[in-house]
Amino acid sequence: MSLLLTLLLSGIVACCGHPGDSVPRLLLVSFDGFRADYLETYHLPHLQEFIEDGVLVKQVTNAFITKTFPNHYSIVTGLYEESHGIVANDMYDADTKKTFSQFNDSDPFWWNEAVPIWVTNQQQGNGTSAAAMWPGTDVKINNATPHFFMKYNFSVKFQERVEKIVTWLNSSDPVVNFATLYWEEPDVSGHKYGPNDTENMRKVLEKVDNHVGYLKSKLKASGLWDSINVIITSDHGMATCSPKKLIVLDGCIDRSNYVLIDKSPVAAVLPKKNKKYVYNLLKKCGNHMKVYLKEEIPERFHYRHNKRIQPIILVADEGWTIVQNESLLKLGDHGYDNALPSMHPFLAARGPAFHRGYKQSTINNVDIYPMMCHILGLTPQPHNGTFSNTKCLLTDQWCINLPEAIGIVIGVLMVLTTFTCIIIISKNRVAPPRPFSRLQLQSDDDDPLIG
Ligand SMILES: [Zn+2]
Repeated sequence: MSLLLTLLLSGIVACCGHPGDSVPRLLLVSFDGFRADYLETYHLPHLQEFIEDGVLVKQVTNAFITKTFPNHYSIVTGLYEESHGIVANDMYDADTKKTFSQFNDSDPFWWNEAVPIWVTNQQQGNGTSAAAMWPGTDVKINNATPHFFMKYNFSVKFQERVEKIVTWLNSSDPVVNFATLYWEEPDVSGHKYGPNDTENMRKVLEKVDNHVGYLKSKLKASGLWDSINVIITSDHGMATCSPKKLIVLDGCIDRSNYVLIDKSPVAAVLPKKNKKYVYNLLKKCGNHMKVYLKEEIPERFHYRHNKRIQPIILVADEGWTIVQNESLLKLGDHGYDNALPSMHPFLAARGPAFHRGYKQSTINNVDIYPMMCHILGLTPQPHNGTFSNTKCLLTDQWCINLPEAIGIVIGVLMVLTTFTCIIIISKNRVAPPRPFSRLQLQSDDDDPLIG
């Protein structure tokens, strides 16, 4: 009878369990341009619920330059931009004379300096990958695309992207264990209104929050919610710009001297003839940008060792815009120094791999890659990330953070001190005087006490 029951139960699990239930699954979601502090400024109930049920990294230090294509590639490769080769949204390769832009991004040449996780997952893993519009996922990188993917088209609605992803995650042949999902907001509105326009940004972020709710409901309806790990993050933040804060290059240097490969706020300048001459003219172009020869770019940017980085790089101060002489049409921008909090996104994650209710102040976005490889059981490609930075987020890792460690050391010291004091006190303790003892002992002595 019990054998029959066991067979029946295993039959039910076999028929109704999820395809590939035994392998860990991971869905990586990016809401473009979601600045870290939006989480505190706006009421976002779906995201808050997601965070309470999982982990939150309040600020993610992203890669320099803080632009969309470069940072999305850093997240999925664990590499700084100089190492993965997507060094800007607009690029030029002097050897091949090729150009790259967001409208001309499908030549594998640009992407092949690194291997993104969706390719490694298919080469090594227990399943295949699927992608809805994450930058690079519709390009044959190292001769492979994700098994399921969509050609990039910004007019495809969020709901449609989610439906595709959920359908693919439900596939049993082949099993999909890694998927990515990308959405253009709140970046588009952040550029349009500026991040401090709370009235307009509130509406946009409420829509983003509803998208999170929709994603959750779809994953729940398909039975994936309890078994899948979901990471929600972004590529960069947003700073307020102003038409009053313009650095006008035409006022300092004639256009015939250089080609502007990438624009504000990090402008890539290719001098036509005399590099030093162009550099010196640009140096005199106001006090609101840094001018670097490629070899002078600060080490902390990790932005020097790639031939696609142009000979002169201009970095505008926060909120300033580099133009040739055009007027400014946007009120928000990103790309600035990655040490600025306004450039930082957040990361939230929930699922069996993650703790519940844990919060951490920061990680680097290149740390996300080794963490994802760990969850999927993959051997990572060489990368710039540090897995131990993410250990406290994960249920299968032992970790101790600095405040906890200090607390434990202080606690142990206090206990030891207390014990030591007790021992010293008890050893030095003098027996209490017993003034009548002799008298009592001698109580039946006949000798007189005195005299
Ligand atoms: Zn943007």
